[in-house]
Amino acid sequence: MYEHTYIYTYIYTYVHTYVRTYVRTYIHSHIRTYIHTYVHTYVRTYIHSYIRTYIHTYIHTYLRTYIHTYLRTYIHTYVHTYIPTYVHTYLRTYIHTYIPTYIHTYIPTYIHTYVRTYIHTYVRTYIHTYVHTYIHTYIHTVTIKEIDTPEESTISAYTDGSKSEEGVGAGVVIYYGSNTIASLKVKLGYRCSNNQAELLAIYKALEIINSLNKDRFNPQTAVIYTDSRVAIDSLHNINNHSYLAEETRKMIANLDRREWKIKFSWVKAHASIRGNETADRIAKEAARNTDMKCDFNKIPKSTIYREAEEEAMQKWQRDWATSQNAAATRQYFPTIQHRARSKIKLTPKMTAVLTGHGMTKAYLQRFHLIEEATCSCGDEYQSMDHLLFHCPNLSTQQEAFQQHIGTWPVSKEDFASKHQKGFSDFVNAIDFDDIQQTDQQT
Ligand SMILES: [Zn+2]
Repeated sequence: MYEHTYIYTYIYTYVHTYVRTYVRTYIHSHIRTYIHTYVHTYVRTYIHSYIRTYIHTYIHTYLRTYIHTYLRTYIHTYVHTYIPTYVHTYLRTYIHTYIPTYIHTYIPTYIHTYVRTYIHTYVRTYIHTYVHTYIHTYIHTVTIKEIDTPEESTISAYTDGSKSEEGVGAGVVIYYGSNTIASLKVKLGYRCSNNQAELLAIYKALEIINSLNKDRFNPQTAVIYTDSRVAIDSLHNINNHSYLAEETRKMIANLDRREWKIKFSWVKAHASIRGNETADRIAKEAARNTDMKCDFNKIPKSTIYREAEEEAMQKWQRDWATSQNAAATRQYFPTIQHRARSKIKLTPKMTAVLTGHGMTKAYLQRFHLIEEATCSCGDEYQSMDHLLFHCPNLSTQQEAFQQHIGTWPVSKEDFASKHQKGFSDFVNAIDFDDIQQTDQQT
């Protein structure tokens, strides 16, 4: 029993202790060490090495390959295939389809629409406006209606102009029935003409009528009374393009468009017609009044021409009177007015006759071109007077001229004024060359 107990105790204790200690120590230590070492080393090595390698290899190789290959292929394909195809297709489609469509559809449509719109609208408007306005203004107004005897009208306008030493003025008085509804006094520049004053009065009367509220006047009829025949005639005369005539015609056309019926009537001046007397008085007041502001100062062309001509004539007259060389000419034209009135055509022969310069042997001798001035008839001095009045070699021409005139003798002044035609014929019938050459032959 003891032995049994002992062995049991020993085994139990020993085995227990040993195994436990050993196994524990060994296994724990060894396995731990092993696992630790192995796992650590292996995993580290493996994972680090493998994964690194893998990633390296994979990424490097794969991506490189992939990217290089794929992208290259893709880009290549895309660029080479897609783009040309696209561009080809697109451009073809675009060019073939769009442009013809554009050309065939858009342009004709555009042109059609544009031209239609342009021509229809613009041209129509232009023609309408221009032609209408123009015709209305210039052709319509040519038919200025004139009445011989005063007739009933809603409005009666009396106009008058006045020009005197004191100045130029225009007067207007307008009646509605027998009531004065307007009167106007206008001052013109002192160089303006009487006809301008008459026309300005008419224009102002029309302007006042145009400013009236037409709905208040029924029927819209007006008669313009003037004592100036010249004013009415200058409105009638389509060749008269003076400023006031044109403006007055335009105003008449304007009134016509506004359905005013305008007529003109000439009245005798100073015949105790109430309206005419009033207009005359107003015009004279305007002409006389030096304080009034000048409303109109367009000088007529005729005045400018006349003034220029008068000035030129005065200068010419001064030169004429003092000239030493015009003695021969003054016998034919004592003053510049005589010369200006003359219609004698200046041929070389006529110029020689009128000035005494040229065409005679006396003239040539005077300038030492020849020594002797002997005429072919034997007279020793061939002057212009000798040829015109005394030379027997020209007796045919002299007699024809004297017969033409009838009474003889007459002055050179009369040749150039009363007998211009006969005198010209006479002078032009003289062969001045021949009468010199005859002399040289003898
Ligand atoms: Zn002679």
